[in-house]
Amino acid sequence: MVRQYFARQYYYRSGYFAVQQYILLILNAIVSNISSVVINETIRTWILARGCNRIYLLLSRKRCILVWERIGYLFIKAPPVTFIFIIWLPMDTRAIREIADDIIVIDTHFHRERFCASYLLLENGKAAFVDVGSAVSIPYLLRALEELNLDTADVTHIILTHIHLDHAGGAGLLLEHCPNAHLWVHSKGLKHMINPEKLINASRSVYGEARFSRMYGRVTAIPFEKASPMEDGMIIDFEGRRLQVMDTPGHARHHFCIRDPKSNGIFVGDTMGMAYPELQEAGQPPFQIPITSPAAFDPHALEKSINRLQAMQPSYYYIAHFGPIPAHPGSVQSLISLIRQHRDIGRIMDKGLDHAAIVPQLRDLYYQAYCSQPGTKRGRAEFDHILEFDLDLNAQGVAVWAARQRTSAA
Ligand SMILES: [Zn+2]
Repeated sequence: MVRQYFARQYYYRSGYFAVQQYILLILNAIVSNISSVVINETIRTWILARGCNRIYLLLSRKRCILVWERIGYLFIKAPPVTFIFIIWLPMDTRAIREIADDIIVIDTHFHRERFCASYLLLENGKAAFVDVGSAVSIPYLLRALEELNLDTADVTHIILTHIHLDHAGGAGLLLEHCPNAHLWVHSKGLKHMINPEKLINASRSVYGEARFSRMYGRVTAIPFEKASPMEDGMIIDFEGRRLQVMDTPGHARHHFCIRDPKSNGIFVGDTMGMAYPELQEAGQPPFQIPITSPAAFDPHALEKSINRLQAMQPSYYYIAHFGPIPAHPGSVQSLISLIRQHRDIGRIMDKGLDHAAIVPQLRDLYYQAYCSQPGTKRGRAEFDHILEFDLDLNAQGVAVWAARQRTSAA
């Protein structure tokens, strides 16, 4: 009843207006003697984008001061009342799942649920993260440590498969929380983590300003002394667990996969594409497509990287988008076949056309691939809706690759 009442009474927009509305909602809740307050999704994202999971409201006669954990504060005019109280953002307890005793997958809630994963490795009471999501994700990672009875001081390694902001954007903020952690990143990506301006501008140009702030929040620079470069073939020693670094370009030039011999699995970042938990039928592997997003998609390099991973004969791929999957040769072959078809679509793309021209072709390609799997149930409209965001980015990446090919051929 209460939830419905709030949902109907208040319409939120982003920014300060939303915060003011939210304060009114809380006051309303107190006056009405209602203990639970519905956290609107816009507000939730706004607060999470500041990398915290609690805010403090200090309401005095003349003004309201909204203080969010560690980051800053905001003054807002408020009704003449005096209150001090704390709001905790409810965290999704489904966010954390054990793969094995010593590997946890955490839903970073970047973009949507079950879209972007961070992996946590545990060894001798110490913790190592592989990929961290954006600043919006950090409260979920801290919550995972809490649930596992670990302290932020127990985190010793933060390893990034690559520096795209959905994997790496929250690393600076996480490092601020974890005093003993050290960051490991591709040698080509290190300078961009120390000075993230170029990364931020590149992402802003793809998503636009408003969407960028909503998705990524604050991108914090990494202190020089807190980060080290990774090179192909090197071993990162995490409490005696020897993690092998493998150079795997194709999705990005600065992409590494991390092999974990103990579990015979590989943390593959974006190399093995997207696997959709929503499109997984009982007893079947999840539906997978390659991630060809801009700006450095290279189908030849990507296929070579996948073959390199397969040659290690892993049992599992720990996919960033989303979750662990068995390293099934049939799934790998389907993925390679899709990469080749992306290449072919790019090759015949007419000069002067933009990516929108190939969106329908990719849409058909993906649905045909989906329908060729046994037991598939989703109708076309639902399928297209689930893939909408990824499909557009993939089309952009293919168009960028096609333009690059034309330039180098000229
Ligand atoms: Zn990426």
